[in-house]
Amino acid sequence: RKCIVVITGASSGLGLATAKALSETGQCHVIMACRNFLKAERAAKTAGIPKENYTVMHLDLASLESVRQFVDTFRRSGMPLDVLVCNAAVYLPTAKEPTYTAEGFELSVGTNHLGHFLLARLLLDDLKKSDYPTKRLIIVGSITGNTNTLAGNVPPKANLGDLRGLVGGLNDLNSSPMIDGGEFDGAKAYKDSKVCNMLTMQELHRRYHEETGITFASLYPGCIAETGLFRNHVPLFRTLFPPFQKYITKGYVSEEEAGKRLAQVVSDPSLTKSGVYWSWNKNSSSFENQLSEEASNAEKALKLWEISEKLVGLA
Ligand code: NDP
Repeated sequence: RKCIVVITGASSGLGLATAKALSETGQCHVIMACRNFLKAERAAKTAGIPKENYTVMHLDLASLESVRQFVDTFRRSGMPLDVLVCNAAVYLPTAKEPTYTAEGFELSVGTNHLGHFLLARLLLDDLKKSDYPTKRLIIVGSITGNTNTLAGNVPPKANLGDLRGLVGGLNDLNSSPMIDGGEFDGAKAYKDSKVCNMLTMQELHRRYHEETGITFASLYPGCIAETGLFRNHVPLFRTLFPPFQKYITKGYVSEEEAGKRLAQVVSDPSLTKSGVYWSWNKNSSSFENQLSEEASNAEKALKLWEISEKLVGLA
């Protein structure tokens, strides 16, 4: 049978390119878990994904109620779950003031980390039940986790501190919209959320890999400088960023190539090792990358797990 893959945020950029690459293998059916149903349908059509290879289901990660509803709808479809890809993200580098999810968490960490945290935890049961031989749970990471690169060191750098802002519920009524309890900074909030994504993948691996056989993985697909992720940036940045990445840092990768990379992590039989953060070198071959100290700190991963459980209502 076909492999059933849920991809969050498959209505544009990396998620859409991955859905297309997986569809082209002829061996996958993609559940496009998206907040804008019509946009997702149109995107799938425009990308030329055949109707029988995808289903759009509504999911707004900025609402925990919507996450629970999505899980319910998916279960009622009767389809098994073989692979979950947590891909959606928001990036608000120019925001002066924080904005919030339905439950009142700062939007970047609330969407990118907490929404996915609840989704992954709930769908773990479905993955366990699937009879598919290579079950996987993938959380898209970012270069901000590797401090051995130039881009991973550009300020403001990710820093979760002692997680006091997260304990306070990520809003400025109680404490601070930032995980470390500091002043709001949209670019930093995004980077912090990506560190959370990578820590969560490793904690999932430690807790569940042996017992379930599920492969847990994260990746940095390269700098996909033209995706919608940069839609909130200033126009000059959006003009200069792609050539800068192409010719200066040489980290640039097209949406199509990035989609092929993520599709590899979803379905390549040679990429089934669990607990790995994948990256690609210049000739596009995959390798196991090292994470920064903070993004691989097991103590922090555990603390993040326990606080996140409370915030999303699992503990
Ligand atoms: P895009 O903005 O093109 O795609 C992001 C997707 O997330 C969109 O489909 C968007 O939906 C969706 N999304 C945003 N908020 C929500 C929400 N509340 N609920 C459900 N879906 C939501 O960006 P990319 O394709 O670049 O980003 C995809 C992933 O790749 C992210 O995890 C990002 O961190 C990562 N990444 C990107 C890099 C890059 O250079 N671009 C580099 C490294 C990692 P909608 O279409 O409705 O807006």
